[in-house]
Amino acid sequence: MAAVESLVVIGAGHAAGQLVACLAQDGFAGAITLVGDEPHPPYQRPPLSKKFLAGEMDADRLYLKPAAFYDKYGAKLLLGRRVTRIDRQARTAVLEDGSQLEYSALVIATGSRPRRLALPGAELDGVFYLRGIDDVMTIRGRFAAGKSLVVVGGGYIGLELAAVAVRQGLRVSVLEQAPRLMARGVGAIVSRFYERLHREEGVVLHTGAAVLGFEGRNAVEHVVCGNDRVVADIVVIGAGAVPNVELAQEAGLTVENGIVVNERCLTGDPAIYAIGDCTNQFHPLFDRRLRFESVHNALEQARMVAAAICGRALPAIQVPWFWSDQYDVKLQMAGLPDKHTESVVRGNPDHGRCFSVFYLADGALIAVEAVNRAADFMMSKVLIAERAHVDRAKLADERVAVKDSRLV
Ligand SMILES: Cc1cc2nc3c(=O)[nH]c(=O)nc-3n(C[C@H](O)[C@H](O)[C@H](O)COP(=O)(O)OP(=O)(O)OC[C@H]3O[C@@H](n4cnc5c(N)ncnc54)[C@H](O)[C@@H]3O)c2cc1C
Repeated sequence: MAAVESLVVIGAGHAAGQLVACLAQDGFAGAITLVGDEPHPPYQRPPLSKKFLAGEMDADRLYLKPAAFYDKYGAKLLLGRRVTRIDRQARTAVLEDGSQLEYSALVIATGSRPRRLALPGAELDGVFYLRGIDDVMTIRGRFAAGKSLVVVGGGYIGLELAAVAVRQGLRVSVLEQAPRLMARGVGAIVSRFYERLHREEGVVLHTGAAVLGFEGRNAVEHVVCGNDRVVADIVVIGAGAVPNVELAQEAGLTVENGIVVNERCLTGDPAIYAIGDCTNQFHPLFDRRLRFESVHNALEQARMVAAAICGRALPAIQVPWFWSDQYDVKLQMAGLPDKHTESVVRGNPDHGRCFSVFYLADGALIAVEAVNRAADFMMSKVLIAERAHVDRAKLADERVAVKDSRLV
């Protein structure tokens, strides 16, 4: 591939910020322009539902790099600006004011957005979604001890928010449509543990709860749930995310639950890459295409594109991983459990706050969910990458290190 002279990145989020950092490290000499529709330089979102929401972290610490970093590497940030069209023939990204940015390579890093619920009353004041810094500032401004917060959706973002709020003295209810919490992300044992954890901390949980709408005169007062009305001063909806793929779709690129990219994160157009939450990529470890919404994926794909652009060898594919912090509990997950044929538990999920669940397929370790067990998580990641066969009894035995369960 000819040297890239002008690189345009659509989106200035986690993946985009990491891409600039990787390109700088690799000595990329071309011009870089990042266009982001938020007013902020690239920042990390995980603290938004954790320490930043709790007021335990300053906004400055959210930013991936200080402004001076982008200046130093000649990366231009166009913030508060939106790309509305990609012209593949002319190789330009068109902004909403009609101005055009020429590119020799384009990276789509548009992320994902909260899934909006088209329910009656969803537009009432006091009903929020949580995706960016500005959302947190608004939500946090409404927090006050004694107020009633209803979280719609028992996924990790909703539950992290519930944990922060209940610790700040709010009355918190979580309404989850599925029969169990975090059903899309974790297995039933871990879901059950989180139900116990949140109840112990004072959160009111309803699973199998169908939210029908929101009521209130000037602002939200109730959430309508089946035949019940749950009192609410604040509602936060955490009902999953949808990838921002419209630009790619309108430009004629292949989109199937995310922008389809190859192992270099290249789309069907040799001048257009895509990275982060908006992508769908084949994962050799799982032998299928997947779309991840995780920091690890954003970082890995940024590395892949930097390597591809700079003509370096691609980084080795890693086991995907994710984490969630709720109260004093760190959940760390690696691999994908959906194809497991059996599971092994280490520790007691029904007592205390420390255990791991291992998922095996035909004797090989394929995934782990570790609750306050960083060492289990770290060692499992290595075994999962190796597709190592493991001794089930040793895996279950807390006295044996996870790495020593490997069968040789
Ligand atoms: C509250 C919260 C908590 C999270 N916690 C965790 C966690 O604990 N662990 C974990 O691994 N992951 C977590 N995630 C997920 C993680 O933050 C994302 O996977 C990551 O941000 C993806 O990076 P990205 O660059 O693909 O997308 P983003 O960081 O979302 O960046 C995309 C940017 O592109 C902008 N954009 C979109 N369209 C356009 C356009 N047309 N023109 C210009 N700009 C555009 C968007 O507004 C956004 O600023 C969390 C996410 C949220 C919201």
